[in-house]
Amino acid sequence: MNTIISLLMAAVLLVPGLSYGKGITVTVTIPPIATLVESIAGADARVFILLKAGSDPHSYEPSPSDMKKIAGSDLVVSVGFGFERWLTKILESNEGNRGGALDCSVVVKDTIALGVSGDVNPHYWLDPVIMIDVSRHISSVLTEQYPNRKEEIEKNRDSLISKLQSLDGEIRARLARLEHRKFIAFHSAWDYFARRYNLVQADVIETAHEKEPSAKHFASLIRKIRKEKIRAVFTEAQSSSRLAKTLAEETGAREGILDTIGGVRGRADYFSLMRFNADQLGKTFGE
Ligand SMILES: [Zn+2]
Repeated sequence: MNTIISLLMAAVLLVPGLSYGKGITVTVTIPPIATLVESIAGADARVFILLKAGSDPHSYEPSPSDMKKIAGSDLVVSVGFGFERWLTKILESNEGNRGGALDCSVVVKDTIALGVSGDVNPHYWLDPVIMIDVSRHISSVLTEQYPNRKEEIEKNRDSLISKLQSLDGEIRARLARLEHRKFIAFHSAWDYFARRYNLVQADVIETAHEKEPSAKHFASLIRKIRKEKIRAVFTEAQSSSRLAKTLAEETGAREGILDTIGGVRGRADYFSLMRFNADQLGKTFGE
């Protein structure tokens, strides 16, 4: 009898067309997190991404139309760890937003410090395994808010998690046999990625945000590349390639490009973005 009732209940829950109502509106700060939200929330959700393609997330400032989107959203999803200081101010202000706020960083364990500042490095989204925990968190917040969508949300979450697991396996396979493992990054964005895939971010070009490196730091980078025989120097899609180019020319290292954000053609979603990065690493190491 109980089995029949639960079967009947399962059938009812699986009936398509149960909806959020009129559909939910979610505002997300960066494209990699948007991929998770879109995959989990499903087709009835409208997902806005605040960060425009090619813009630098660290110096982003919301426009009046962004403020409107935030205010009108059912949910605002952020990276956290102080990455979007501007958002905290908006959410705390009177306009705020009518829905909830979801800070993905609350489920990130084993954080990495950002230089000597004592702050937490916020670039955890570049580790696909951490993104599995973030997916679970997004799914549990959504099912809490929309219990009538629980089945669908959890099904979407499970298929997203298996895609993230395959992505992790793919990147691991691409980078496993690299002979060279040390690289110079443009800024401290690749610590989580390097830890996951057994690479070494030996140093960064830009030690403080939007500040040209000092002549002293630049000279120390050149010495380090030569001494440690570092093969690869990376610029980033949102930055000028000038400094990485000069470093490569001075030392004979190879120059490549990495992208922390994507949202552009060819790497619009998280999966294509991460495949691009793994491939760039392999290619730039010449392997
Ligand atoms: Zn960054």
